[in-house]
Amino acid sequence: MILNMIFDGKKLAEEVKASLRDRIAELGKQYGRVPCLSVLLVGDDYGSQRYVASCEKNAALIGMTCRVVRMAGDSSENDVLRTVETLNSDSTVDGILIQMPLPKQVSQAKVVATLNPAKDVDGVTDTNVAQLWKQKRSDYARFCVPCTPRSAMRILEAAGVNPDGCNAVVVGRSNIVGLPVTKLLMNQNATVTVAHSHTKDLPALLRSADIIVAAIGQPKFITAEMVSEGAVIVDVGINSDPDTGKMCGDVDFEHVADKCSLITPVPGGVGPLTICSLMENTIDCFLRQKQAN
Ligand code: NAP
Repeated sequence: MILNMIFDGKKLAEEVKASLRDRIAELGKQYGRVPCLSVLLVGDDYGSQRYVASCEKNAALIGMTCRVVRMAGDSSENDVLRTVETLNSDSTVDGILIQMPLPKQVSQAKVVATLNPAKDVDGVTDTNVAQLWKQKRSDYARFCVPCTPRSAMRILEAAGVNPDGCNAVVVGRSNIVGLPVTKLLMNQNATVTVAHSHTKDLPALLRSADIIVAAIGQPKFITAEMVSEGAVIVDVGINSDPDTGKMCGDVDFEHVADKCSLITPVPGGVGPLTICSLMENTIDCFLRQKQAN
């Protein structure tokens, strides 16, 4: 393994986007139009607005169509469900991202159940979740895997970290990060333990890990004492540092980095690649729909 590597997610994202730009231009020539991502944004959550703006900017950079459907925060559940149905049946829309969180009056479960799995670019529908848990190989061309877990796996691959036979600890068991990354690691033959807020002696568990994926949502939660020399750490967390107000991860990067073979910084690690995975999932949806017709 590579020693003391701080993974440059921004650089890899630029490389991925350059190759996606070429790929989209080719697809445009072959099929007469480029893939189209539609993002549904309900309300004015600050983090969501920033993410959606970044989707628009990056889609424009690579030549993909991105249509943002903005709905007021007090929209009724019925109106939101009808909008999802409209996007489902729009043959010019290949991928749909429902930006979470949704306002309280709108049931996330109902919205996800309405979304067409063939356009589900963040792999949240039951169909795509079932595919992930049934398949022993992570075949991204066949079904959509949530974007952030896909990015975490890309980082390991790009850094030359082979999870086969490794002890991996995933901290966090959310449907959107912790659980899917667990299955993706298992598909690569890692032995995975999933930790959460009820885990006893998390520090001891983390010290036994060759690979740690942190998806907790607690600033600088994982400290140097919890990590063994040479560990590989993928920090998914996006938090505000209570001391500086700046963005930080779930790992105390400053004190942990020196102990690691590889660590992803926040910002500049997983985040930039998540957008790339979103674009790739949209292309995959586009191609699957073209092949089905
Ligand atoms: P989430 O749904 O809130 O899940 C957090 C998980 O962390 C839960 O499973 C929780 O355990 C566990 N946890 C909380 N406190 C803990 C503790 N003290 N010890 C051990 N486990 C603990 O969060 P999420 O949506 O997975 O997101 C996690 C982080 O990743 C957030 O900072 C989020 O902003 C970030 N994120 C980043 C990206 C990206 O592209 N970089 C994308 C998505 C999310 P319980 O299940 O027991 O409650």
